[in-house]
Amino acid sequence: VALLEQTWNCVTKGVCGSFMEAASYDVIIVGAGNAAMAAAVSAREKGASRVLVLEKAPAHLRGGNTRFTGGLFRFAFECADNLGQLMPEAEHTAPAFFSSVPPYPPSQFYRDLMWASHGAIDHDMAITLVTESFETLLWMRRQGIALEPARSIGAVRYHGKLHWSPGAVLRTRNAGMGLSDLWFQIAANREVEIRYSAAALSLARDECGRVAGLWVKDPDGRKLLPAKAVVLGCGGFEANADWRRSYLGPEWENAKIRGTAFNTGDGLRMAFALDAIAYGQFSGCHCTPIDTNAPALGDLSQTDQSNRLSYPHGVMLNRAGQRFFDEGENFQFYTYARLGALILQQPGGIAFQIFDAQGASLLEPRYRTAAPIVDDSLPGLIHRLGIDRRTAIATLEAYNNAPRSGTFDPSMLDGFSLRGISPPKSNWARQLTAPPFYAYATTGGLSFTFGGVKINKDGQVLTLHDKPIPGLFACGEIVGGLFYNNYLGGSGLTAGAVFGRAAGASAASYARLRNAATPLRLSCVGPIASSQ
Ligand SMILES: Cc1cc2nc3c(=O)[nH]c(=O)nc-3n(C[C@H](O)[C@H](O)[C@H](O)COP(=O)(O)OP(=O)(O)OC[C@H]3O[C@@H](n4cnc5c(N)ncnc54)[C@H](O)[C@@H]3O)c2cc1C
Repeated sequence: VALLEQTWNCVTKGVCGSFMEAASYDVIIVGAGNAAMAAAVSAREKGASRVLVLEKAPAHLRGGNTRFTGGLFRFAFECADNLGQLMPEAEHTAPAFFSSVPPYPPSQFYRDLMWASHGAIDHDMAITLVTESFETLLWMRRQGIALEPARSIGAVRYHGKLHWSPGAVLRTRNAGMGLSDLWFQIAANREVEIRYSAAALSLARDECGRVAGLWVKDPDGRKLLPAKAVVLGCGGFEANADWRRSYLGPEWENAKIRGTAFNTGDGLRMAFALDAIAYGQFSGCHCTPIDTNAPALGDLSQTDQSNRLSYPHGVMLNRAGQRFFDEGENFQFYTYARLGALILQQPGGIAFQIFDAQGASLLEPRYRTAAPIVDDSLPGLIHRLGIDRRTAIATLEAYNNAPRSGTFDPSMLDGFSLRGISPPKSNWARQLTAPPFYAYATTGGLSFTFGGVKINKDGQVLTLHDKPIPGLFACGEIVGGLFYNNYLGGSGLTAGAVFGRAAGASAASYARLRNAATPLRLSCVGPIASSQ
């Protein structure tokens, strides 16, 4: 405390010595995930000469949730030629891909965002995300990010043909690891400086109230880093158990976290200290069905492999032996991000995904990372699950015997549905009759939180009445307004890149103008964070 007081006095008197680094950065980016790295590269591209990325994690754990992802990017495209622009090499190596993928026009992307959020999405952000998505992927490709067909997570193979979940067709090569590694390589080529184990603690302001730097804790201690602009790209608060309890509810305190341990809401706390307004759904999060044996916290040796998203081709039962969800309501990437929370509400927080041999032939490869429970009969399988046997068998009989209409077709919402049963199964409602039968035990895994700060079209962080905080920008999951109650697979990475690129460019212009106007003088700084 004495040391902090001494530092505080020293800085406020304008005689800061060893605690304030002498050289000033044009732009400091907090975080090193997809959004932050897009911002850093964009800031350099737009002329910021000294750009620093602060990564709270040590080098071997760098990259945030981005590193854990499947690397799936959702974007609007009108035709196969658009995909060719993003992957010219694949036109030769994977010609069948281009003919098998249906277009995903901007109108459909927009409609889907509206559908997923029940209309709550920030309209301007939705329009930006949709209209900039393809151009941003082209920009990423120009930077050196390599893309490939997302066959293993975006498509099912049926009768020898690939059938795609709409809009979920491309991923980065080597998934999130590949994306993250390439971002670091591109940033290094552009002479972006990166400091590891360097946690931003709080924002500093100058005498005019403009953000003018950051207090940072790194292995050498605490220091003040002056900067003309700061971009917060440091994720949500999913790894902070106290905040989870407060904002999401007590049942979330011990939830399994699918990604990084370093996203603890620091950026939100720093921005709120400068009167940024809270925006978006603070009680909402992205939570998916995962293997019950998945680790309590994301493990980089497993990344996203515990995801269990082929449930539209089976039936889900809770421990009481009941169905609780329309497994065929929509394609998996339209329902999975809210299904995890529903599973956590079931007895014991688990659900079994049950498939017969037909359904099992459509499972995505990630199911291979678990050993299912297998039996030649449905009653035999149920017996081995330790769930309410009588109810479960009655539930499956009712499911198998319910009248059906339509024809099974995994390439579309086929309307092959059950009648007179609750919950319904609206599509792909094939009976479970072909042995052997398989059961996979799942629980809910929290990926990231939805609440955040509010930004304008330049990525500036806003206070009440939409007044920008001068010098402060934000991008990625720290920004609220895009996701409410649900989420479309692949939209987080695209949003991070779209808004990260914009925030980096705006921060660079702001730093340039500020350069010309007044030299940076830190005569007054914001409060030093007491935690950490
Ligand atoms: C397992 C998993 C799989 C996913 N798969 C996909 C997918 O395939 N496609 C998709 O679109 N989305 C996916 N998502 C969602 C996706 O992770 C996010 O949308 C995206 O990665 C968020 O990027 P970001 O840059 O905002 O945050 P992150 O990538 O989480 O980066 C945040 C960064 O901030 C750093 N940080 C935090 N606090 C501080 C501080 N005080 N000082 C300095 N640094 C700090 C962290 O260390 C980290 O580097 C997945 C999520 C998970 C967990």
